[in-house]
Amino acid sequence: MKLLEATMEEVGGKVGLLPIGSVEQHGPHLPMGTDSIIAEEVARRVEERFPEHVLLFPTLYVGCSMEHKGFPFLGVRYVTMVNYLLDLLESSKSLNLRGLVIVNGHGGNESVLDIVQREFNFSSPPFKVHVVNLVGKDAHLFGNVDLHAGSAETSKMKAIRPSLVREHKLREVKDTSVKEGIFSEITTYEASPHGIINDGDVEVNEDKGRVSIEKAVEEISEFIRKKYLR
Ligand SMILES: [Zn+2]
Repeated sequence: MKLLEATMEEVGGKVGLLPIGSVEQHGPHLPMGTDSIIAEEVARRVEERFPEHVLLFPTLYVGCSMEHKGFPFLGVRYVTMVNYLLDLLESSKSLNLRGLVIVNGHGGNESVLDIVQREFNFSSPPFKVHVVNLVGKDAHLFGNVDLHAGSAETSKMKAIRPSLVREHKLREVKDTSVKEGIFSEITTYEASPHGIINDGDVEVNEDKGRVSIEKAVEEISEFIRKKYLR
């Protein structure tokens, strides 16, 4: 069930599912909302599997994207995001949830989510938060690590929203290498004029994208089944 469509009498006793992404440059070929679109799609498919047990939260589209400074992005500071999420979790106690799964499509949110998860879970809340990060899990599929706007994200977008992939723009891309200190000491703007951080050429493979998306859906579904439905 979708939280935005549920009445107050229907929300209780479910497992919350919260997709989080970003609004930031994704190279010359992918949309600004890539991380949000992917996280939202994965969460939507999970909710579809368990409509009676899962409560799908509205997607948090804007996250922490300061590592893209110099390129176009929308974002909030890390500290702001920590407080925003803790407030959101605090208020979600009123929903009488059994648990909350956060589906995160953006690498820049991971450190914040780790803090939020610990802060919340160790304060004896009525339910626990579980974080699933979607980025960086597909090295076995592609033979290289996509840290930003590379093979995995491009292929996933190709599988779910093909019209949003401007594939011809990839011809302009000359360098996708992973530079030392990327995301912690240097921005994507300082690392590459193309804004792509992928350890090798960008592979566009719809089938692999589909496999990656389905794998994430299955991983989250299995967690929900095991923890809440057995
Ligand atoms: Zn991304």
